[in-house]
Amino acid sequence: MYLIPFDQLFPEVGLKETRSLILIGLPGSRYDMYESYCPDPKCDCQRVMLNIVSRSEQKQVATISYGFDRSAKSAGPFLDVFNQQSPYAEKILAVIAEHLEADHAYVQRLKAHYALIKAAAADPSHPVQQQLAKWKDEEQTLLATDKNLAEIRKARAMLSELESAIPALERKNGQAAGKKPRHRSRGGKSKKNELDA
Ligand SMILES: [Zn+2]
Repeated sequence: MYLIPFDQLFPEVGLKETRSLILIGLPGSRYDMYESYCPDPKCDCQRVMLNIVSRSEQKQVATISYGFDRSAKSAGPFLDVFNQQSPYAEKILAVIAEHLEADHAYVQRLKAHYALIKAAAADPSHPVQQQLAKWKDEEQTLLATDKNLAEIRKARAMLSELESAIPALERKNGQAAGKKPRHRSRGGKSKKNELDA
């Protein structure tokens, strides 16, 4: 599953509706909560990924996964293990968990953005289709690169295993070579002798 950035697909809505927070007691204090969603129209994951970016540091300091189906086991919010975090990501998570709990209008807004993405992705004539296709291509290229890298690592491991087996093989071969020519030369010699005789 890959996720797409809401504010890049719908820049106008994104600009107006991307929430920013002032978090007291944390470095930088001003944070923007960028949203990513799964655009697969056949997937009903009911989930948003909140990418928390510090304005002063200009970097992502926490990545929080949040499910709209509150009865689901893995509804969250929780820190996503596959994405970027920072030493104070846990603190940010605690504040945002409270925020999601208290601000129903904000959760409704997230659900509306999710519905907007799914509807656009399901509509072949929607203007965002080109961008979605481009991201999908990029995702596939990345996946292919990962697969190639894995194959290269595997081939390297095999190669080094073979290389480390060479000295032992050479010793064996040397012993065999040391014996064989003697037999041959003796045989050859005796044949020659026979011919000579
Ligand atoms: Zn999904």
